[in-house]
Formats: sequence, structure tokens, C-alpha cells
Amino acid sequence: MPVNRRQFLASSSLAAAASAIDLRALFAMAPQAAQAPPQTAFVAVRGSIGYFTGQGGTIGWHVDKKSVVVIDSQFPATAKICLDGINERSLSHPLDYLVNTHHHGDHTAGNVVFKPVAKKILAHVNVPKLQLEAAAAAAAARNAKPGAPPPPPPEQVVANTTYEKTWREDVGSEVMALKYYGPAHTSGDSVVTFEKANVVHMGDLVFNRRHPFIDRPGGASIANWIKALEATVADHRKDTIYIFGHANTPSQVTGAGADLLYQRDYLSALLDFVRGEMKAGKTRDVVGKITDPLKGFPDHGPLIERVLTAAYDELSA
Ligand SMILES: [Zn+2]
Repeated sequence: MPVNRRQFLASSSLAAAASAIDLRALFAMAPQAAQAPPQTAFVAVRGSIGYFTGQGGTIGWHVDKKSVVVIDSQFPATAKICLDGINERSLSHPLDYLVNTHHHGDHTAGNVVFKPVAKKILAHVNVPKLQLEAAAAAAAARNAKPGAPPPPPPEQVVANTTYEKTWREDVGSEVMALKYYGPAHTSGDSVVTFEKANVVHMGDLVFNRRHPFIDRPGGASIANWIKALEATVADHRKDTIYIFGHANTPSQVTGAGADLLYQRDYLSALLDFVRGEMKAGKTRDVVGKITDPLKGFPDHGPLIERVLTAAYDELSA
């Protein structure tokens, strides 16, 4: 049907009005757009195992017909997105286990979201205490700031099932094994192995191609972290796929034993470098301000105070 002039004018003014509304709507949405939900992704790895990235440490998952396990929980907002995706894949099967690889907030703050659907929350025996201590210290630090009223402390949901050295159990058609290799990134890091899929969640024992966080108040040890990485590689097969708590790029979230040994080499080089600077008589303050890349590890970018002072303190302890 041909469009007459009146209809054309009517429709074009409608279009103009509509686009004005669109523009106003767009402007109104701009502040929310700035707080848009974080980018999230579900990625299958092998067998029944996969990972989820959002905000904070990488979440691992195991979903088969009889069992669901989630490793780490990020923060509440992305934990909710993760749980919704897990429920789609599992037809809302409850979780046999939520595992916490260690106590840090970017791996445990989302526990509160998973708790109602998780039969057990599992972690190394040191984790609940470390988590409560860290939350109390963070609350005290906030209260120490003059002026602003302190925000309420976030609810801490801690593991209700713990182990000391090793733990192993069938989960549906998989076998899940946890092992504690001693103090490393914290003093409660678990390596979580899904034996049949031959996939391992490393928690924060690997910051793949990024400067790591070394939690000395949480009992970290760079020297033993190096040994833990070697022992983990020795305990697993050549074709094991590892999931890393943090990575420089999305394509580096998983890797091989060689990436664990690269992390080991970085930590060794960091200790060697700081030891050399200390021998040269440099103070903690001076060492902490060095920003040259660590020799042999240019992909990590300039050195940062956090890792330099952690190494300095460990070496002078
Ligand atoms: Zn961590």
C-alpha cells in the first residue's frame, strides 16, 4: 500500500518522537550502564568439569547427572549469575560441595549465595579461622577511618567441613581429591583434583602471568610455595589441565604443568632479586619502590611494591 504524504508525516513525526524518547532513555540509563554487570563466562574444560569467570577468583564446577560441585564463590553478584548458570546445567540439583580453595574474599564472599543449596562447604582446616580473622581486620581498618560511619561487616559464611592433609571422595561419576601442600599463597591453600577428567583447580597458587598476591598475615611462604608447585606437578600427569585463580588474559585461565613451573620460576627469581638488593644494603622502602620488570619475566609488567615487600619481609624474618 502506497504511503500518502499525511501518513508519511505522521509516521516520521512519530519516529522523531520515538527517537527523542530513545535518546532520553539512553541518557537516563547512562549511570546504570556505568555499573553494568561484569562480563561473565562459562567455559567447559574436560569431562564434567568447567570454569566460570566473572569478578574475583576463577570458579570451577563439576556437573553430572548425580552430583554438582562448585569451587570458590567470587562475590555475591557474580556468585548469583554463576549459580543460575549451574542450575540451568544441573536442572537445579543441589550442590554436594562448595569448596573454598582458600579464605580470600574474592573466593569466599559469594559463599552466602551458594549456602542454601550446598550440602557442605569444604576447605582446609585453617581456612575458617583465617577468613574470620581477615574479615575482623578489614572491619577494624574501616572503623579506624575518621568521619565516615563504618559499613556493616559483610556476612561471613565459612566452611563447615574441613581436612588437614588430604581428602578424597566420589562425587557422582567423578572422584574429587584435595591436598594441602603447606603454606604458600596463604596457609590454607587446597589443590583440587578431579581425577577422571584429569583437571585440577589451583586456586591462587597460580597467578598466571600476573604479579601474585602473597598473604604474609595469612601465613604465606614464598619458599614453600615454590616447593608446593613442584610437588603438584610431580603428583599429576603430563596431560593434566590446570585452572588458575587469576590470569593475565582470558586465554590464560587454564594451562599445563609448565605454567606451574613458570610460576615457580617467577617466585624463585623474585626471592633471588630481593635477596640481592638486600645484600647491596637497600632498605625495605627503597626495594619496595623498584619498578623495573623482574628479569626474565617482562610479561608481568613493572615490579610492584606488594610483591617486593612480601619477599623482603620473608627474607628478613
Ligand atoms: Zn587469594
